[in-house]
Amino acid sequence: MEMMFETERRDLAHTVRKMFDRKDTNVAGGNMSVKVFDAEGHAYILITPTFMSETYYAELSPAQILVVDAASGKKIDGVGDVTREINMHEEAYKAHPGIRCVYHSHAEASMFWATIGQDMPNVTEATRELGRIRCLPYKPACSKELADTVHDALVAIGDKAVENVLLLNSHGILITASELHIATRLLETLEWNAQIAYKQALFIKMGLLDDYQSCGHNYQAPLPLPDIALPEQPIRGVSQQFPADMKRSVDETHLH
Ligand SMILES: [Zn+2]
Repeated sequence: MEMMFETERRDLAHTVRKMFDRKDTNVAGGNMSVKVFDAEGHAYILITPTFMSETYYAELSPAQILVVDAASGKKIDGVGDVTREINMHEEAYKAHPGIRCVYHSHAEASMFWATIGQDMPNVTEATRELGRIRCLPYKPACSKELADTVHDALVAIGDKAVENVLLLNSHGILITASELHIATRLLETLEWNAQIAYKQALFIKMGLLDDYQSCGHNYQAPLPLPDIALPEQPIRGVSQQFPADMKRSVDETHLH
């Protein structure tokens, strides 16, 4: 029997293992999901199972990627249990129809900024398109308050939510993207930015810099780079980075 959304589940299982091996989350958690549609246009959330890090070290088979009915919230296929953190994913998808991937991670360098409760200074060229990297007020992990805070923060930024990073105070990060492989690129460039901004903070404290610097100017100066997607110009329906044999089903997904 054919597995539901086998191509997408295989890609998600492969990607989450790679990201775990690259230390883009820690063994305490993290979860990734993508939103897909069936032939009738009904939406599903494909999501990694609970304990995917601490029990499985992200070595998941496609069957362990759970299929959750987006309308009812019920698991309809897959081996394993749904994480309690799915409430953040559900609220993020509700916030904007262009969001097709939610990536929650306990990424080390970004968590430095998340724990001090400050926005992360956005200093590298590769991350400037993200605009403000906002730190949300603290809400306990897995709580409805946290999921609601994520939802409201994404609604407030409109189309920018289609490519965005939120810092979850003292917990981790939440990336929203139009596509799985955009989300992974955002996380790795964000992690570099987090480390570089931290070092700039030390230079500021030592009196070697007046303020954070980016692209030859103060980091808050307007960006003189028209070929990078600005927050007002979200990337949607961009060509996929999948291998050729995966492309067809992805294109079909994007038709809806
Ligand atoms: Zn978490």
